[in-house]
Amino acid sequence: MRIYIHTDLEGVSGVGRAEMVPRDKGEWEYSCELLMGDLNAAIDGAFAGGATEVLVLDSHGGGGNFILDTLDRRAQNDTKPNKKWWGVMDQRCAATFFIGAHAMAGTMNAFLDHTQSSTSWFNYFINGRPTGELGQWALVAGHFGIPMVMVSGDEAACVEARQFFRPCKTATVKTATERQRADCLPLEEARQRIWQAAHDAIAIVHEAKPFCPQKPFEFVTEFMRADYADSAERSGKVDRIGPRTVRKVSDCALDLFPG
Ligand SMILES: [Zn+2]
Repeated sequence: MRIYIHTDLEGVSGVGRAEMVPRDKGEWEYSCELLMGDLNAAIDGAFAGGATEVLVLDSHGGGGNFILDTLDRRAQNDTKPNKKWWGVMDQRCAATFFIGAHAMAGTMNAFLDHTQSSTSWFNYFINGRPTGELGQWALVAGHFGIPMVMVSGDEAACVEARQFFRPCKTATVKTATERQRADCLPLEEARQRIWQAAHDAIAIVHEAKPFCPQKPFEFVTEFMRADYADSAERSGKVDRIGPRTVRKVSDCALDLFPG
């Protein structure tokens, strides 16, 4: 059973301050070490639960966060030869996990909530439902017939995951006290939760269904400002439905992004 693990940085154990996330700040390297700790816990849990192959994707900010010599040697790193957001994920995968998740833009009590870009995206909807990166990732996985069965992140991200995907094993590793601060569990406990959720997720792969809203999909992106909508409109792939808002209708989940 092949498992595909998508990773982000905001929802990683021990990352409890916004300053730990930007690449130009001194603490980013330590955050990457923390990411590897969570990822390796998930990989080990997956194998212990019965996975036979694990692929991992470094997705935060387009990649460059993995410290490869500390990656569990049993896992294969997806280097995204196709340059797609979803890497080489395809029908051969049985399920996907999302490690280090954050909640969608506009979520209360969420650590660094955003959807794709905290500077240019205000809201995003699929068929009218506010959706974040968890839903976007699951939609793409659903395109390949793959269910999302495990999520780790802050409490708000895990709540969001359970609202979108059932069944789904979640591992809450911290709770936001305000948008830029979170109370983190001790690392050992957080990684134990991740290990357990990853382990248990393998047992629900067969009952879990791929995330697939009704087709055709309506993707609506509401930007922060009109100039972002101007650039999206220039792609010719979206309809301008408001000063800051563009819309795309498609039968294909891979068309989920504006432009
Ligand atoms: Zn990120």
